[in-house]
Amino acid sequence: MRSNFQGALALVIISLLLVASSCGEPGQSASGDAIDSRVDSVLQLMNVEEKVGQLTLYTSDMSVTGPTIRPEYKEDITKGRVGALFNAFGAAYTRQLQEMAVNQTRLGIPLLFGYDVIHGHKTIFPVPLGEAASWDMEAIETSARVAAEEASAEGLHWTYAPMCDIARDPRWGRVMEGAGEDPYLGSLIAAARVRGFQGDGIGSLNSVLACVKHFAAYGAAQAGRDYHMVDMSDRMLREIYLPPYKAAIDAGAATVMTSFNELDGVPASGSKYLMNDILRKEWNFDGFVVSDYTSIQEMIPHGIVADAAEASVLSLKAGVDMDMQAGFYNATLPQAVKGGLVSEEELDAAVRRILRIKFRLGLFDDPYRYCDEQREKETVMKPEFLEASRDVARKSIVLLKNAGSLLPLNKSVRRLGVIGPIGQSRQDMIGAWSAAGDGNKAVSLLEGIKAKVSKDTKVSYAKGCNVMDDSTKYFNEAIALARQSDVIIMTVGEGWWMSGEAASRGTLGLPGVQQQLVEEISKTGKPIVVVLSNGRPLSIPWIDAHIPAVVETWYLGTQAGNAVADVVFGDYNPSGKLPMTFPYSEGQVPISYSMKNTGRPMNPSNKYTSKYLDIPNEPLYPFGFGLSYATFEYGDIALSSSGNQGMKVTCTIRNTGKVTGNEIAQLYVRDLVGSVTRPVKELKGFQSVVLEPGASKEVVFELTSEDLSFFRRDMSFGPEAGEFKVFIGGNSRDVKEASFRLEESSPGGLEFRYGDSPPKDL
Ligand code: BGC
Repeated sequence: MRSNFQGALALVIISLLLVASSCGEPGQSASGDAIDSRVDSVLQLMNVEEKVGQLTLYTSDMSVTGPTIRPEYKEDITKGRVGALFNAFGAAYTRQLQEMAVNQTRLGIPLLFGYDVIHGHKTIFPVPLGEAASWDMEAIETSARVAAEEASAEGLHWTYAPMCDIARDPRWGRVMEGAGEDPYLGSLIAAARVRGFQGDGIGSLNSVLACVKHFAAYGAAQAGRDYHMVDMSDRMLREIYLPPYKAAIDAGAATVMTSFNELDGVPASGSKYLMNDILRKEWNFDGFVVSDYTSIQEMIPHGIVADAAEASVLSLKAGVDMDMQAGFYNATLPQAVKGGLVSEEELDAAVRRILRIKFRLGLFDDPYRYCDEQREKETVMKPEFLEASRDVARKSIVLLKNAGSLLPLNKSVRRLGVIGPIGQSRQDMIGAWSAAGDGNKAVSLLEGIKAKVSKDTKVSYAKGCNVMDDSTKYFNEAIALARQSDVIIMTVGEGWWMSGEAASRGTLGLPGVQQQLVEEISKTGKPIVVVLSNGRPLSIPWIDAHIPAVVETWYLGTQAGNAVADVVFGDYNPSGKLPMTFPYSEGQVPISYSMKNTGRPMNPSNKYTSKYLDIPNEPLYPFGFGLSYATFEYGDIALSSSGNQGMKVTCTIRNTGKVTGNEIAQLYVRDLVGSVTRPVKELKGFQSVVLEPGASKEVVFELTSEDLSFFRRDMSFGPEAGEFKVFIGGNSRDVKEASFRLEESSPGGLEFRYGDSPPKDL
């Protein structure tokens, strides 16, 4: 029961809110100053415990995304000990929980509701690594937009995405949540996702706050083992790992999440260097920072603090505003403030950042504005959302091999055998981190194929084996089916639970006896298409060497089966390109196209060069790789002045195939001599060109000296004069190249020169 005193205070708040609403639409239209003064008015009413409550985020028990749940979280809400809740959604349910905060606490401050809406909320889109393979920013933005529409209609204000962790080690299960290995592509994608989630801006009813995670360098976990330590030079951090987070912040992301890992000996949730120095001071980030699940508590086993009190003080002072699920701020910060270990100003600064966002969302005007059941019903899984999901799914598919143009298959094939453990699974279509998505609503591969083929085609299915165990007891049935089939589609890969958080693998082949199954089926001599479902680059050299057609389909979401059938039967010509290198074997990882040359670059006839005794240096499929049903020929590169202190890099691409195709042409550069060594290739641009058979088109890229900038020997950022190579191609390996120089013209000025210097051999 609420006392009269509580009622009176709530009235004070309400009158403040009236002032707020007189400033126009909730959130956005009020100026920053107006919001700040309202935040201050609320702050004045709060005692230390209430302030700390605003800094506390707990999970509900509706969905589980981590190792702990605090059973008393509802009681905490009514006591004003919680400022935000995650893993609770639905217009009715969030309203019910919001009522607890608004009606039963002294000040009635509304809760913020967060959830991991990573690749769709109810309409599930491809996993982020899959979407990254589309290299299509519009498609990626659309996916995030749809996710925001659905999530916000279900009472959510905040998604824990985009995940901006660059990852070069496919053993790490979380590679599936990011955009792959490249900072340039990763930055564009990070920004596109933020634009999609935040739509017309914070406070617009169909948007959610983005949360840039996991800050920072979580993707470099040692040996690919989740939660493991990270150690790297500041140069590598800034050059490779930080750019996507920065791009997301520059795109306006409202919040940031810390990471579980330590970096240079300091766990991220206690790192002042990351939160205050880089994020706030260098990048001018003005939103709030939340810790990752219990990561404040985990600083004890990390060995950087001895107890909860020390952990809270370290995190708050480092610039972490909100404590996710550890409950350490609640348990210890009031005492820390009283004891002078944390000043009230420091506490207020964190509370302010959170209240500001609540004001901008319009929650003080109407705490229930996102809890509209009618809107929820009209929004969730709309037909146009399903169509968008199918479109993005098709764009995310990567054709890895197509010997003898086995694909696309004829829809009128007489007897089609579908073999492999993923074929009938719907859950495997939506993948890990599929939010409120319902696997039962997804289209399985078998369903998609059946819906696509002619009515005279007989489609039969045999599982062949399970995803993960070593039993071969279903092999015979599968072999028998293969013998009776004209063509076989093998549906193999990882179960949905094999990637994502806490899903590192030490091996990268097909799990269980799946490869053995493929080998047995291939002995029948029938034409085989391998359709892979997986959340990470796999190492499948045997399949590449022996199977004519291989299609990478990731986990494509609710419409997966339809999208795969669109590609396999030729209604859609694939154009996806790998956002991450597929290694030949685990022994090569971490691996990226953008490695350094070394002082002894590989020479097969010289023992003392950088290579392996037992495996090649080259990956199985390089970064940027992906085939089409068309074929493309790249002409020589021409260089010319852009008239704008830059240089035009031009190349003509011709469709030498028989069907119209979409090619993603990629531009790479190499700085041959620098004050610090530079990678052998760096992606600096790409363009998508649609070409009819026989048609050609010139792609023109403009390079500026900004594109050639890097962290120089003294850590200043900028270009250096010298020789460069520029490459254009359909992947990072098969490229045309040309050379140019950057020369000092006026003091401090650099000018492009080309056409008179032969390429230098390194
Ligand atoms: C993950 C985050 C996620 C959070 C909340 C953590 O375990 O690392 O990515 O946002 O849980 O579910």
